[in-house]
Amino acid sequence: STPVATFCALSKAAKSGVLVKGGDILEALANTRVVAFDKTGTVTRGEFTVVEFRAIGKSPDVHSLLYWVSSVESKSSHPMAAALADYARFSSIEPRPENVKEFHMYPGEGIYGEIDGHQIYVGNQRIAARAGCAAVPEEVEMEMKGTTVGYVFSGGVPIGVFSLSDTCRTGAAEAVIGLKRMGIKTAMLTGDSKAAAMSAQNQMGDALDMVHAELLPEDKVNIVRNLKVKEGSIVMVGDGMNDAPALAAADVGISMGISGSAIAMETSHVTLMSNDVRKILDAIRLGRKTHRKVV
Ligand code: ADP
Ligand code: MG
Repeated sequence: STPVATFCALSKAAKSGVLVKGGDILEALANTRVVAFDKTGTVTRGEFTVVEFRAIGKSPDVHSLLYWVSSVESKSSHPMAAALADYARFSSIEPRPENVKEFHMYPGEGIYGEIDGHQIYVGNQRIAARAGCAAVPEEVEMEMKGTTVGYVFSGGVPIGVFSLSDTCRTGAAEAVIGLKRMGIKTAMLTGDSKAAAMSAQNQMGDALDMVHAELLPEDKVNIVRNLKVKEGSIVMVGDGMNDAPALAAADVGISMGISGSAIAMETSHVTLMSNDVRKILDAIRLGRKTHRKVV
C-alpha cells in the first residue's frame, strides 16, 4: 500500500477510537490468524462483586478480617481489590491502606501486607506456599457460590475464604463470533480459576476455540509463542500489568485504553480508546483493506 493509503487508514482508525502505532502494525493485523484475549478486564468488565466472605479456622471475627483484607488490598490495583474494598464499606468498615506497613504483589498469585502487626497474605491457591501453608481447604472452595475463590492466610494457616463473580462485557461474544466468521481462531488466557474461565466462556455461548486458565504471566507468554508457531500471526488483547509480557510477545498487542494499566498501553501496538472489543474486528478489516487482502 502507499504511504497515503496507510496514513488515511491510521487516521480512520484513530477517529473510531482505535490507536494504531504505525503502518507496519496494520499489515500485521491483516495477517491475523488467532486472537487471544485476557479474561479479567478484557472479555469481562473486571468489576468483581464479592458473593461471600467468611472467617475460617483460628481467625478472629469476620469484622477484623475484612478490615485487614480490604486495607491490604487497597494497596493493589487489581480488579478484585476494588470489590473487596466496596464490600468492606458496605459492611461499614473503612479500609486503611495507610496502616499497611509492608506490601508485596505476586502477579498471578495475590498480595502480602502487614497491618497492625498482622502479616496477611491474600490470593489464590498459589499464595498458600508463600504464606507457609501446605494445604488449602479445598472442601471450603467447593461450597463457594462465586466463580473466583480467594484465600486469606496468616501465621501459616488459612484464616479466611471469599468468592467473587464478574460479568462479560457487552459485545464480547459478538467480537468472538465475528472473528470466527473472518476465519480467525480465538482463545482466552487467564490467571483466574477454571470455574471463572468456564463461566465467561459460557456467557459467550461457548464461542471461544481455546480456553486456558490458572496461568502465570510467563505462561501467557509461552502460549502466545506456541500459538505463533502452530497457527501463525497472533493478536493478544489485554488490560493488566500482568498482560504486558504477552502483549509484547504477540505479533500485535492490543491494550484496553480506558480501564487498562499504563504498562499494558506502553507495551501494546494498538490501544482501544473504548472498552468495546468489537473494535478489533474493524481494525483487522482496515488492515486487510489497506493491504489489499480479500475481506
Ligand atoms: P487475569 O489473567 O484473569 O487478568 P490475574 O493474572 O490478574 O488474572 O490474576 C490471577 C489470579 O491471581 C486472580 O484470579 C487471583 O486469584 C490472584 N490475584 C492476583 N492479584 C490479586 C489480589 N490483589 N488479591 C487477591 N488475589 C489476587
Ligand atoms: Mg486482565
